[in-house]
Amino acid sequence: MRASAYPLVEVDAAAALVLEHTPVLGVERVAIAHAIGRVLAEDLVAPASLPAFPSSAVDGYAVRSADAGKAMRVLGESAAGRPFGGTIEPGTAARILTGGVLPDGADCVVMVEDVRLDGDLVTTPAPLRAGSNFHRPGADVRAGERVLAAGTQLGAAEIGLAAALGFPRLPVRRRPRVALMSTGDELVEVGGKPGRGQIVDSNRWALLAALREAGAEVRGLGIGPDEPEALRQLVVDVLREVDVLVTSGGVSVGTHDLVKPLLESLGTVHVGRVKLKPGKPFTFATLPPIGGRRGEGNIAFGLPGFPVSSLVTFEVFVRPALRKMQGFTDLHRPILPVRLAYDARASADRTEFQRVRLHRDGRELVAETTGSQSSSRLMSLAGAHALVRIPPDDQGIRAGSIVDAMILALP
Ligand code: AMP
Ligand code: MG
Repeated sequence: MRASAYPLVEVDAAAALVLEHTPVLGVERVAIAHAIGRVLAEDLVAPASLPAFPSSAVDGYAVRSADAGKAMRVLGESAAGRPFGGTIEPGTAARILTGGVLPDGADCVVMVEDVRLDGDLVTTPAPLRAGSNFHRPGADVRAGERVLAAGTQLGAAEIGLAAALGFPRLPVRRRPRVALMSTGDELVEVGGKPGRGQIVDSNRWALLAALREAGAEVRGLGIGPDEPEALRQLVVDVLREVDVLVTSGGVSVGTHDLVKPLLESLGTVHVGRVKLKPGKPFTFATLPPIGGRRGEGNIAFGLPGFPVSSLVTFEVFVRPALRKMQGFTDLHRPILPVRLAYDARASADRTEFQRVRLHRDGRELVAETTGSQSSSRLMSLAGAHALVRIPPDDQGIRAGSIVDAMILALP
């Protein structure tokens, strides 16, 4: 064992260093069928107005409002997709269906329920208001209007809007390609039977889920050995095919903890220890392009081995970086004030992210602890709604106080 040579960095400073060294990825054009969840790379500007023509909002009769109360001759019909060819002169009308073009000459639509029909004559109530019961051109979107800003995530409504404006493909940022590896000779594959002293590799599956949820494409590297050369080979071979390396385990100061020296030999370690609980050994490095690879190089995250530490450091450092790569405007989870329902003990020298469940009490969110906050206890994170930020302190924070919470899911 040796003391760590890495300075202890404040959480916010470490997060800033990570983002500073994280690139924004390039642009690709994807069919709207595959655009769900992607992030728009350029502002989307409407090439035309919506609706493009005066469009009836109801089934009824297109008339001139000045003819209100008169019996008018019905000249024909304007159905959706089948406009009426003529002009509505004084004393005439056209039947119109929802989505039909308002004929020239008409200035309003009267609902079918409100008219009286007598052969080919229609009588409307009086008075009528010009402009009623149809959508004006550009009422929904004006030509030239910016409808979606770069950095917007595409959901159902955004994709529908793009389709309505005639875009079959959209420019989005590339998804980060991430190589994921667990390290440790004690690990066995899930489904295998752990021998004495062995444990199941759970981090790889937890991190796979977290990575995918954050928009990454993941390349699984399995379990890396606690042997420097074999570990190095496994990593180097894949770096040219990915943007990001994420490992778990092997970053503390035990003699078998090989990830920091590996990252140091491949590039520059910017963060080697953080004043964070859980997650003190969190490591972040940049790796220059290797083996003649043209491109940007890689960023690498050495996450701690303890399951809660790996997921909390993922939330605090990795997820915002993956979102920056994808061009998101919002990199962070929402932060909301919550009232503590328990006495929060603080760490003397590290910022602690305590796992809590939330419930509503009137207009407030109240935070209950998930129990023992041991970094090995995934039960503290399973079902948690938020991470409550407890600054380093000798006293801690009393129940009833208001603190900031990073919201993972609202109850
Ligand atoms: P390390 O950082 O390699 O010293 O790992 C610290 C502890 O985290 C180990 O003693 C294991 O108990 C646990 N651990 C490491 N890797 C994993 C993993 N992939 N899945 C579950 N637990 C792990
Ligand atoms: Mg280990």
